[in-house]
Amino acid sequence: MSTIPEATVDAARVGRRVVELGLSPGASGNLSVRAEGVTYMSPTGVSLSALDPEQLAVMSAEGVQLSGPRASKEYPLHEAMYAKDPEARAVIHLHSAQAMAASCLRPASERSALPPVTPYLVMRVGRVPSVAYAPPGSKELGEELASVEGLFHGALLANHGLIVSGRDLAQALDRAVEVEEACRLYVQLFDAPARWLTEDDVAVLTQRYGTPW
Ligand SMILES: [Zn+2]
Repeated sequence: MSTIPEATVDAARVGRRVVELGLSPGASGNLSVRAEGVTYMSPTGVSLSALDPEQLAVMSAEGVQLSGPRASKEYPLHEAMYAKDPEARAVIHLHSAQAMAASCLRPASERSALPPVTPYLVMRVGRVPSVAYAPPGSKELGEELASVEGLFHGALLANHGLIVSGRDLAQALDRAVEVEEACRLYVQLFDAPARWLTEDDVAVLTQRYGTPW
C-alpha cells in the first residue's frame, strides 16, 4: 500500500508541466495543494521541474511547518489565497513573462487588472484583481492580497506575476495558462482602440459559469 498522497504526485506532475509550458523563467514559481488537513508546498530553492512527491514541505492548517524541506518563502501568499477562495485546494504562483509585463501596467478597472479580453478568461477564471506591491515573500504581500474585497480565483501581483487557485492542481494550471494568455493580449492591445466584452456579455458568462467579475 502506497503512503504517498495522490496530491503530492499531482504536484510533481503539474510542476513539470508548468516548466514545459515555459511559465517558470529562471526556475521561479511555486505551488501548493491541500489534502488530508495539511498543505503540501514546493520547497525553497527547488525547480518546479524537479519536485519529489516525498520531498514537499508539509504545513499545518495554522501555517506551521510539520515536516519536509523548508517551504518556499512565498507560503504566506498561498495561505492568503486559500483564505480568499474557500473551495480552493490548490494554488499556483508564477513569474511568467506575460503576467509580469501585465502586472506592470495600470489595472484595467478597479475590480480587475485585466479587462474581459476573451470569453474564456471570464468563463474559466473570472476577474483578476490587482494586488498592491509588497516585497516577495513578505507577510505584507499576503496582507495586500487578503485586503482585496470579494471573491476571485486569480490575481496579478504588481510588478511580480500571477497567482491562481483551483479545486485541484489541474484546474489551477488551466487558470494559470488562461491568465497568462489574457495578459499577453492585454499587453499587445494596451492603449489600442480594442473592444473588450461588454458588461452584458460578461454577465451572461458569469451567470452561466458561476465565476466572479
Ligand atoms: Zn513570486
